[in-house]
Amino acid sequence: MQEVQFIDKHAAMLPMHREDRNTTPRSRRYYVWTVGCQMNVSDSERLEAALQGVGYSPATRPHEAGFIVLNSCSVRASAEERIIGKLGELRHIKRRNPDTRIVLWGCMVGPENESIFKERLPMVDYFVSPSAVDQVVSLAPNPIYQLDEPVLPVRDWTHSPTSVYVPIQYGCNMTCSYCVIPLRRGREQSRPLEEIVAEVEHIVARGAKEITLLGQIVDSWGHDLPGRPELADLLTAVHATPHLARLRFLTSHPAWMTDRLIATVADLPRCQHEINLPIQAGHDALLKMMRRGYTVARYRNLVEKIRTAMPDIALTTDIIVGHPGETRAHFEATLALVEEIRFDKVHIAAFSSRPGTLAAEQEHDPILAVPEAEKQARRQELEQLQECLATEINHAFQGRTVEVLVEGESRGKWRGRTGGNKLVFFTHPDDWTGQLVQVEIIHTGPWSLRGRLASTEAPG
Ligand code: SF4
Repeated sequence: MQEVQFIDKHAAMLPMHREDRNTTPRSRRYYVWTVGCQMNVSDSERLEAALQGVGYSPATRPHEAGFIVLNSCSVRASAEERIIGKLGELRHIKRRNPDTRIVLWGCMVGPENESIFKERLPMVDYFVSPSAVDQVVSLAPNPIYQLDEPVLPVRDWTHSPTSVYVPIQYGCNMTCSYCVIPLRRGREQSRPLEEIVAEVEHIVARGAKEITLLGQIVDSWGHDLPGRPELADLLTAVHATPHLARLRFLTSHPAWMTDRLIATVADLPRCQHEINLPIQAGHDALLKMMRRGYTVARYRNLVEKIRTAMPDIALTTDIIVGHPGETRAHFEATLALVEEIRFDKVHIAAFSSRPGTLAAEQEHDPILAVPEAEKQARRQELEQLQECLATEINHAFQGRTVEVLVEGESRGKWRGRTGGNKLVFFTHPDDWTGQLVQVEIIHTGPWSLRGRLASTEAPG
């Protein structure tokens, strides 16, 4: 499962021509609101590029748009609640402007719930399954142009973003007990290597510096394609893209990661030394209940291989606490494993019951269910441990000079990331967006680093 970080993006993230602001009518403005993981962000980027391609302009607020799309997430109940809340706001807009077209898109929409939603959400005109970008574009009521080429992100952007997510695979064939993604995104489907390479070349030629290849189990890419290519082959092919500065991939699965993949990441100089390897729990009995397909011993062994090949690797993980059946002893095993492995970052979630999953049935069993207060207490305990560990790990950067890819400005500071994906801030009068710079770290904390530019040549 990909990291769910409650990305909350809307159309204002995109640059807008000054003349558009004055002249484009509401009927040809769109508003896209995105909640969820990087896959949703990528889908929304494609959608926005496509809408601009057919003659639409972005609106900064929903009431300024004639076409509104909510790209939804259903990995946790709280994500769904946020979307329902947003739809409540949109009801008033629809009342004032009945011609506004509203689409609910993404993981909340599945064959089993569409009819329920149709009754409960009368303000929604169309329900569209995840990733079906072309279908959403075809619902825009007032296109000027036809889309005559595949939908690519950044195609019509006036300023190219520094870092772009590229989906290489859709869906998931696993049946993890708690996860709704296979029900909503369907079976795994890999995109052909040539198509991905061509898309990356196109995006990088438009100015992007960093590409992150995305999949629910990114390491399993290619097993359904002729000749069964592997992610290692794809990384090697994409890595050859001229002017590409950094290459990443997300999200790995401990049962699918191979020695060949580890060796390839270690060998390719622009492939960044960062791996997100979700463990989810630190006890075999719980991993079995979660149907994850690996043991703690296998995970440990994998981490050892990765660290032997790349001693500077930044390892991140995802953990769910309070899954039905998790005892205090299981949870303590998770704490001990986190302390032993010392992850750079841990995405921690309290178990959230998702209808249709095995764990949702188990949650009804009072012997298995973990009380809500206990779930939250375990989440906090793990967060506190990780904060201490991340503080120690990041302190090792004090006084070091690191290479940072600058992504943009944030509250008066330049914001960028190291190869290991550490967030770095620095101040400087010039604009360094999209540049690789050397930054000397002068302050460290658990979530980010602060530094000063080590070389002060004018941005190129
Ligand atoms: S079923 Fe498991 S492997 Fe697949 S997306 Fe969900 S958590 Fe990830």
